[in-house]
Amino acid sequence: MDETVTVQPFIVGPLMENCYLLSSKSSQQAVLVDPGEDASRLLGTLAKNRLTLEAIWLTHAHFDHVGALAEIVASIDVPVYLHPQDKPWLANAAIFAAQFGLSFAPVTVETIDLRDGQVLQIGDIVATCLHTPGHAPGHIAFHLADQKLVLAGDTLFRGSIGRTDLPGGNHDLLIESIRKKILTLPQETRVYPGHGPDTTVGIEIQSNPFLC
Ligand SMILES: [Zn+2]
Ligand SMILES: [Zn+2]
Repeated sequence: MDETVTVQPFIVGPLMENCYLLSSKSSQQAVLVDPGEDASRLLGTLAKNRLTLEAIWLTHAHFDHVGALAEIVASIDVPVYLHPQDKPWLANAAIFAAQFGLSFAPVTVETIDLRDGQVLQIGDIVATCLHTPGHAPGHIAFHLADQKLVLAGDTLFRGSIGRTDLPGGNHDLLIESIRKKILTLPQETRVYPGHGPDTTVGIEIQSNPFLC
C-alpha cells in the first residue's frame, strides 16, 4: 500500500520528547501521539493545516509524553487512549516531574483503555497496539503495518533502548518486548522513537549494542 499517512514529528519539552502528528492525506483526519508539551504549537499546526484531530494515542504516561494533554483536550473534545497499567503515571505525572526538578500541572484527563493486539482506525490511519512493557508497565507501540512504520515510544531508540531504572521498569522485560514485538516486524519497518532520530528494524537488529 502507498503511504497514505503523513508522519510529522515535533520535538517538545526539556527532555526533547518526540510527539508525532499522523494525518490522512485523503481525509484531513489526524491523530496525535504523545503530546509531551507545547500545546499551542500542536494546536496551531492542526488549525493551519485544517486537520481534524480525532484521537490522542499515548505510548505511555511518563510526564514528558503527556504535558500538552490537558490543554489540548480542553481545547478539542477528543478521546485519549492509554493502556490501563500506565494510568497511575498519568495521575501522578506532576509528582514524577517534580523528581526531575520540573513543575507540571496535574493531569486529570479520562482515558480509554488500550490492550495488546487492539486495532485502532481513524480513516486511513490504522494501527495495531503492541503491548511492550519494560520501560513502563503499560507501554504500547503503535504499528502501522500499511505504512511500514512503528511508533515505538521509549522502547527502542536508534542505537539504544529505553531506561528501566524508573518505577515499574524492568530491563529483562524490555529486552523481551523489543525482541518479540518490534524486531519481529519486517526489517524495512521505520521506527519512530519517543526520543532521538528515527531508524529501522533492520538497522537496529544489525547494530544496536543493547540487542546484539
Ligand atoms: Zn518514558
Ligand atoms: Zn520519554
